[in-house]
Order: sequence, then structure tokens, then C-alpha cells
Amino acid sequence: MIAPLVKGWCPGALRPMPSGDGLLVRIRPTAGRLTQAQAAGIAHLAGQYGNGLIDLSARANIQIRGITDPTHAPLVAGLATLGLIDPTPEDEARRNIVVTPFWQDGDGTAELAERLGSALLDDRTIDLPGKFGFAVDTGANPVLREVSADIRIERDATGALLCRADGAAGGARITPDTAVHTALSLARWFIAGGGRGRMAAHLAGGATLPAAFTAIQAAPTTGTPAPPPRQSAAGFMIGLAFGQMRARTLSALADIAPLRVTPWRMLLLEGRTGAPDIDDVITRPDDPLLRVIACPGKPGCTQALQPTRALARAFAPHVPAGKVLHVSGCAKGCAHPGPTSLTLVAQAHGFGLVRDGNAAASAIHHPLTVEQLLATPGTLMGKS
Ligand code: SF4
Repeated sequence: MIAPLVKGWCPGALRPMPSGDGLLVRIRPTAGRLTQAQAAGIAHLAGQYGNGLIDLSARANIQIRGITDPTHAPLVAGLATLGLIDPTPEDEARRNIVVTPFWQDGDGTAELAERLGSALLDDRTIDLPGKFGFAVDTGANPVLREVSADIRIERDATGALLCRADGAAGGARITPDTAVHTALSLARWFIAGGGRGRMAAHLAGGATLPAAFTAIQAAPTTGTPAPPPRQSAAGFMIGLAFGQMRARTLSALADIAPLRVTPWRMLLLEGRTGAPDIDDVITRPDDPLLRVIACPGKPGCTQALQPTRALARAFAPHVPAGKVLHVSGCAKGCAHPGPTSLTLVAQAHGFGLVRDGNAAASAIHHPLTVEQLLATPGTLMGKS
């Protein structure tokens, strides 16, 4: 198996990442929310300066694909007029915050996320690792437990706020006024203790939290790791096949409502009641495309060994309810680091099969070609 390249940094708008279809520009919306004007503006810019494809990332960010060296500068200028550009590449890398999309007016979540983002920009003495991030998960129930983050602001079982290091069972009591200060104190503790990568690994490696940061027991996890498209009190959440949409789809969504970007590669239409009637948008929780996961594959990623999404689409109707298929362009497994019912891992000549494992696990089978896989998709998915 060919070892995938680990880059160790995330792209931004000012620091785009080369990809198979040009430069990839990542936008981090403040508090995970786009106004209608911002969403419409991104759609326009993606069509004007990119290849018209827009991704949602697992960190609840927006990615514009197909940017070129000459179109990057005018794209950044356009994003700046929309209020979507940070002062420097270092600033945008530090403002790494995922926010629950289910917040309600008056619950303080959006304000807390905005203040945390501002504090991270203001305090440049905090030099965090590239993938280090924060979760503001202060809706009625925690929904971001499965989402990558190192410092979590949540509610305990009584509804009071706490600040918790990822990997710890408890956290520190906070109030809306002390939340940001406490979260940054925990970040400083991590750095001072020699933390280099992620918080959970730091704790697992033997670091002991100050007593104040273990005093309050966290609330139990409720709900599913990735909620399906559905109506909620905050609005209607729609899905997108593989978390990707065309500029015209984003433009149509922007006509309806402000958008909250989720880490499940879905968008919540703020305040919307009822499913929107837009092509290419998933509104039903039983849509088969929700049972397949695929990274961009060839030609979207330079490391991909095979195309992925056409194969995943062809398999989707054959994936039984309750099972998940992951088609990965290489063993890195970017689209889904965890195990799935069946993972097809691209190799130089076909796909290796992994059952109940992730893309990095050893294949149980010699590689099969696309034609061989499509000959019996139902059998491979365990359908009787
Ligand atoms: S898993 Fe997919 S997106 Fe990630 S590096 Fe491999 S081919 Fe590229």
C-alpha cells in the first residue's frame, strides 16, 4: 500500500492548499454562520474565480475549489468585502472554532463563539498547533462530542456552562463572562505543559489537569453523532451529497435564509420551517446518499489513486439502512477517519476491501476493479 502524505496543516483563505483541481480556499465563518449576503457572495465568487464547486468540511468550514494563482488575489479581495477574511494567515489558522448549529436566540452561543474568535485574534501569544481547535457546544444538548476539538465549552446536566479538555470526563465551571478567559487559560496550560498535537493525546500521555478543570462532571452524550436532515427549533437542516454543492445551489439556499454551517457536511437554514425545494439538496433522512461517504478522489486530490464518488453513488442504493459505505481515494481516509461497515480503499489497480474498519486498516481481500465491485454491490454490502 502506498503511504499517504500527512501535511499537518489546514488550508485557509490566505493560505490555500494545492489540490488536484487547483488551489483549495477554506473560509471560516464567524460563529459558524453566513448571512444571506455572505452566502450569495461566496456562490458568486466560486463561479467567477473557481471551478464552481463548494465543499463543506468536517470542521464546519466552507471550501472553494479550483482557484488558480491569478484568481486567488481577486477572490480574497471579494471575500474581504464580505467580512470573511482574517488579518493574517496565522490569525485564520488560530480561529479554529466549531459551533453547534442548534443554538437559539438568547442562549448566548453565537455571542460566546464570536468573543472566543476575537480573543484568539487579540492574544497572539497563544501559539497553538495547526489542528488545535475549540467547540462551542452550548445548545440544549451536546451534539459535537464526535467532532474534532481540543477545548470544549458545553453545558452540564443542570444546564450550567463548563469548559472541558477533550479526553477529560469533567471540566471547570464557567459563566458567560468567564468562558473565554477560562478556555484560553486551558490552552495556555496545554502549551506550557509541552502539548504539541492534540489535547486528548496530551492527557493520554500522562498530563494531569489542574483540579479546577475536572471539578464538574460533563453531561452524558445524547443523540446520534451526525443528525440527519430534519426540522429543528433552529431551522431546517439539509444534506449535500459528499458535502459538495455547485455555486448555483448555494445561491439558491442563500435566497431562503441565513446559513449555519455544520461539521456533518450539512447546512441549517436558520429559522426555516419545512424542506426547501432545491435540486441537489438532501432533505429526507432515509436518502441513500447519506449512507455513503467519499473523499474527492481523482482528480480532485493529488494523492488519490482512483476516482471515488461515482463508485459511491452507484453503491448507494445497495447500502442497507443502518450500514455505511466509505470509498476512500487512499489510505489516509480524510472523509471519515473512523470505521464503517465497508470501506473501499483505492489502490493502484482497484480497491481493497475493509470490513468494520477504517481506510488505514488491512484489506481483507486482494484489490477488486470497479467492474468487479459493481457486479455484486448488494452482496458486498451484506444485503440478502
Ligand atoms: S483520503 Fe482522499 S482526500 Fe484524503 S489524501 Fe487520500 S485521496 Fe486525498
